[in-house]
Parts: sequence; C-alpha cells; structure tokens
Amino acid sequence: MQDEVFFLSLYLVNMDTSIQYLPGVGPKRAQLLQTELGIETVGDLLHTYPFRYIDRSSIVRIADVHPDLAQVQVQATVLKVRLFAKNGAQLPPEQIKYNMVSRLSALVSDGSGEMEMVFFKGVKWMHSRLVPGSTFVFFGKPQLFKNQLNMVHPEVDAPGASHAGVLTGVYNSTEKLKTAGITGKVMLKLMADALGLVLPSLEETLPEYILREKGLVPLTYALRQIHFPTDQDALAKSSYRLKFEELFLLQLSLLKQKYVRSRGAVGLKMAVVGDAFNRCYQALPYELTGAQKRVIREIREDMKSGHQMNRLLQGDVGSGKTMVAVLSCLIAVGNGYQACIMAPTEVLAHQHFANVSRYLAPTGVRVELLTGSTGAAARREIHAGLQNGSVGVLIGTHALIEDTVQFRALGLAVVDEQHRFGVEQRARLWNKGYGGTPPHVLVMTATPIPRTLAMTLYGDLDVSVIDEMPPGRKPVTTLCVGENKRHAMHNFVRDEIAKGRQAFIVYPLIFESEKLDYKNLELGYEEIVKAFPLPQYKVAIVHGQQTPQEKAFNMDAFVAGRANILVSTTVIEVGVDVPNASVMVIESAERFGLSQLHQLRGRVGRGAERSYCILMKGQKVSKESQKRLDLLCATENGFELAEEDMKMRGPGDLEGTQQSGLPISLNIASLAKDGLILSDARNYAQHILDGDPLLSEERNALLAQELHKNKYSHQDFSQIS
Ligand code: ADP
Ligand code: MG
Repeated sequence: MQDEVFFLSLYLVNMDTSIQYLPGVGPKRAQLLQTELGIETVGDLLHTYPFRYIDRSSIVRIADVHPDLAQVQVQATVLKVRLFAKNGAQLPPEQIKYNMVSRLSALVSDGSGEMEMVFFKGVKWMHSRLVPGSTFVFFGKPQLFKNQLNMVHPEVDAPGASHAGVLTGVYNSTEKLKTAGITGKVMLKLMADALGLVLPSLEETLPEYILREKGLVPLTYALRQIHFPTDQDALAKSSYRLKFEELFLLQLSLLKQKYVRSRGAVGLKMAVVGDAFNRCYQALPYELTGAQKRVIREIREDMKSGHQMNRLLQGDVGSGKTMVAVLSCLIAVGNGYQACIMAPTEVLAHQHFANVSRYLAPTGVRVELLTGSTGAAARREIHAGLQNGSVGVLIGTHALIEDTVQFRALGLAVVDEQHRFGVEQRARLWNKGYGGTPPHVLVMTATPIPRTLAMTLYGDLDVSVIDEMPPGRKPVTTLCVGENKRHAMHNFVRDEIAKGRQAFIVYPLIFESEKLDYKNLELGYEEIVKAFPLPQYKVAIVHGQQTPQEKAFNMDAFVAGRANILVSTTVIEVGVDVPNASVMVIESAERFGLSQLHQLRGRVGRGAERSYCILMKGQKVSKESQKRLDLLCATENGFELAEEDMKMRGPGDLEGTQQSGLPISLNIASLAKDGLILSDARNYAQHILDGDPLLSEERNALLAQELHKNKYSHQDFSQIS
C-alpha cells in the first residue's frame, strides 16, 4: 500500500485522476461514490465540501445542553453505572454475564447537571472503563428520553485528549455508503490522502492579480482549510474564496456568452416605431405606468440595434405585461414584419386574443387566433394570411410553432409564461425567422424570480422588470383557515355574490396524485353545487380532462358573469382576467408552492373595492407549509415571497427552475445565502470583460482555460428561449 501511494504521488495523481486509485478506494467503492455522491475524480472529491463542522474545541455545561443541539461535548464524572437485561430488569453488578446485558447506563455529572450515557454495544468494555468517580469527555447527540437528558453511544475520551482539528467536517452520506463502510471518518481519511497527493502540484485556478485585488486566499490553502480547518477565521476565508471563485467563473461564462451573442447574432433591424404603434398608444384607455414605459424603451432599443433581442420580462401578476407585448408586436408590424404571441394554455390564448383585438382595433392591424381547436377551414385561411403578410399578429398556443405554420416575415416572438414551454418548442420558434435571421424574442414570466437566481438562470439574457403596479390595484386580504371554517367560508362567498361579485374556488392537481385529485375536485364541485343551488346560483367548472370546447364554454360563462363561481384546477393560474371576481378560495392550500399560491391570489384584486384570498388548509400541515401560508398572509409582494421561498426550499425547487434547471450545480455557494458575494462576483466579472471581452490577454489565460471546462459549456439559454 505504501509503495502504491508513493508511486501515485510521483507520477499520477492530479485533480482528474479517478478516485479508485486513492489508497483504500478501489473500483467497487469508486463506483459507489460515483452513484451515491457523483464523485468520480480526485477533483470531485476535494470539491465535495463538509455541509457542517463539529466544533470540538468547546465543552458545554450539562446545564446548557439542550436536546435541539446537534452534537455536543461534555466533561463529566461517572456517578453510577447500571446494567439492564432485555426485559428491562436491572442486573446485579456482582454476577454479570455480559451476554445477558442489553443496555448499560452511566449517570454522569459535571456539577452543573446530570445526564445519562447509554450503550447497547461494547458493554463489557465500557463497563470496565466507566468506573464511578472517573472523569471523561463525552461527545454525541443529546436527546431527551423520559424527561432525562441522555446520549446514546457517545464517543468517550480521556479529558484533554487531542483532536486532529478543532473543527471536524461532516459530509453528506447515504445509507449505502455507510453500509459499505464509507463513514464520516473514512471520508476524512480520503480527503486527507487526496490533499496530500494533490496539493504539492496543484495549480492555482485564479490569476494572481485577482487574488490580490479581491483579497482571496490561495486555492491550496482554501482546499486544505475547508476540509480540515484550524480555526473559524481560516475556515471563513477559505469558504469565501471557494464561493467567490464558483460564482465568479459562472458569471464570467454567462456574461462572456452574452457579449459574444450581442456582437455576433445579427438581428432584424427595426428602425422606426411606426404608425400602428402610435395609433394604438394614443387610443390607450389608460396612461402606461413608469415601469411599462421604461421596459418598452428597453425593447425598442433592442429591436432597432441590429442585434437580436433576447429579453426576459419579469412582472408580477397584473403588472400589465400584455400591453408591453402588444406595443412590441406593433413595432415589428410597423417595420413590415409580423409578430406572434404564444400562450401556454388555450384559455389564456383566447383571453389574449380578446384583449389584443381590442387594443389593435384602432390600428387596423389584422390579428388572428390559432389553437389546437381551430377548424380546418379557418386554419387554411390563417395560413394563407400569414404567408401573404396580411396577418400582422398571430396569437395562439403551441399550435403556432407547428411546421405547417409559415410566416412571411416573422420579426418578433413573444412567449408568455415561458417556463411552461419546453426547450425544443422554443427552438422551433427560433427557426421561424425571416430569411434565416431569427426573430427577436421576448419572454414574459409572472413568476417572480429572486434577483440572484435571475442572474444565474438568465445571466446571459437581458432582463427587464416591471416593478410597479397599475394604479387602482386593490389590496387583497389573505386568510388561512381550517376545515371548521368551511361553513363560514360558504357564507362569506354568498355575501360577496350578493354584492354582485364572483368567486374562484381552486383545487390542487398534482401529477403524482392526479386520480385522487380529480376525485377531490369532483366531490368539491358537488358540495359547492349543493351549497350554491340553482336557480339562485350558477357554478361553472374547468379542468384538464374537459374538451377545449367544454373548457371555453365554462370559462366564457364565468368571464361574462353568467356563472357566480368558477370551480377549477390550477389551469386558471396563468393569467385569466376577471376584474369582477373578489374571492379566491384555494383548497388544500398547503399543497401548493408559494409562488403558485401568489399567482392564484393575483387573479383577484383587479376591480372590486376589496378582495379576499381564503386559504383552506387540511388537517395535517407540516411546519414548513404553515410557514409558507403565514408568509403569504403577511405580504403581497411577489419578489419578497420568491426570496423567502428560495431561502426555505433552495433554488432548485423553485417553480421556474424546475423545468429549465440551473446552468450548473453549485458546490459551495448558495443563491439563497450568498447574494452579496454573487453581486460582487458578477460586477467583477463584468469589469474584467470590459477590459478584455474575449479573455485573450495573457494575464487572463487561466480564466479562459477554466471556462473551457465542461461544466461551463452548458446549454446556451440564449439559443432556446
Ligand atoms: P399581467 O402582467 O399579469 O399579464 P395584464 O397585462 O393582464 O397583467 O394586466 C392586468 C390588468 O391591468 C389588465 O386589466 C390591464 O388592462 C390593466 N392595465 C395594464 N396596464 C395598465 C395601466 N398602465 N393602467 C391601468 N391599467 C392597466
Ligand atoms: Mg398575463
């Protein structure tokens, strides 16, 4: 074994070496480490960081030990030791047969308090060690058992025994790894071996001048300290260096792509604003908000730049994104091009069509609707209109990206609620450009994304934010109630209907439990119909198993005010506008994500003087779900909610990231916690690119080399959205 290590250290081991060549690993364990933790190379191993550290530098007074603490160390004297048989009977210490003992219990005290140390294994050995009157350091997880503090199988050391480092790293593990003997201790040994072999020849990944300018510790120091910290300060510096590097390189790669694209991708040059735009603008029934105006200016600049626009438009529900989309379409039309708006659902496409037709009436621009349920004859006519250019704006579902749909000159594609479209669908849209030039692309999303996440997820896109609500938006009162208030909820809805208002009642529909969810929807609908009987009340229902016609029929009944209540699954979540609705009831609210709940709530508060969102919660609500519901009751600000959601669940689980995924997985930095480092890293990356956009200068050679690594050659988002 020693020879092998020596041999490896001389010739082979670097960050790219397979871990199977590390002492004590071999092919079997290597395979396991790969499947369980994704560790293939020595580099992967060393970039697998402890998720926490056990602090063995301090000794806690038993009086201060609390069962919520993770692991603690106490120094205490043994008062008495008792042995118990399987049936719980205490065994007299004189005539011990150890094979009869199932449990040893030692009562210890440090003067401040007492606790019990419990052992089920190695009883004989412990019995001989834990002599009453002798003092030890016990280290373990405290817990409360029958009102008595105890530790099960603590580590037992003589007082003053030295520990390798005062802070011991704890790594993620799995049952399989533990079963295969890859324990925390073994992980530490692997790390120590790997560091020993790799560090002497490890090259720095960041240029010297960056380390200096940003005050970062060297990589070799950081890697050693992150696994085996000598003190808190060294750990903090090392963790900062590694986080900064991770975020900096990611931002550098995104910003560089953005730069290359903005120079590279030729776009359709739209020099003028055009008549249609001006006529529509002048006929607007309201003044645009400052934010809408700013965003339209940004889009206008993009479209006339000669480079292709790739812009993400974020704006909370009801912030007025549709108008921005319409005016952008008219810029394209005013320059002799066509535009399309793609919506995620049929219902929403219909609604967009109705609104857009209204806005476009004063302009004379022809607008058409194309969805899966458009009849063959109408379809033929639309196709012809698209090809001869008489259709200026096409609105539809993903039906409009089918190959049979050919534009004469598509200049702008607006994608509403982008995360509902797959990557491939967006790519097809991209290919519908004019004369081989891709159309400008405006992606709109009402799912507020925390700033740090947007910088990462869409770091290579331009982002516009509508951060101002149109005037007249009324506050929504949000309440969270249990089953015992169902009757009261019905009464409340009746009162609102008596005032001429309408109500949404939404049921969860989750893929994994679809059958059961439909059952609940059905039962819920029956109950509502009973509670709100004809002829006084009319209840409409919309869900995913209906035909498009049924859906449209029910939806129209509600939109037109013929139905008082709309019972539905979450299909209405994305964008339906019924200003007269003043109540949103959400059933089993604990099963929805925070941003989904927020979206649903955004359906009300658009017209009525006061609106309400009633969250009906089930019997069993986890602590975390309750926190989500409380948060929703506390604020109406979507961005604030998104930030909190990310803190609670991590960025990977946020709606919006689930489908598209993060461009790379972060090893050490957290988008939820390291926002400041991220901003700094992004600014600094921009600063470096400002001076050397292609990283061709000698002093940036290391950076160029890092960006060539696989993990940064992720899918180019600019090509697909
Ligand atoms: P979303 O951003 O959710 O798509 P919409 O575009 O549907 O929002 O707009 C929500 C409502 O606000 C619509 O009824 C729209 O007519 C109205 N609206 C949009 N902009 C303004 C404005 N500047 N002033 C007043 N009302 C506006
Ligand atoms: Mg909308």
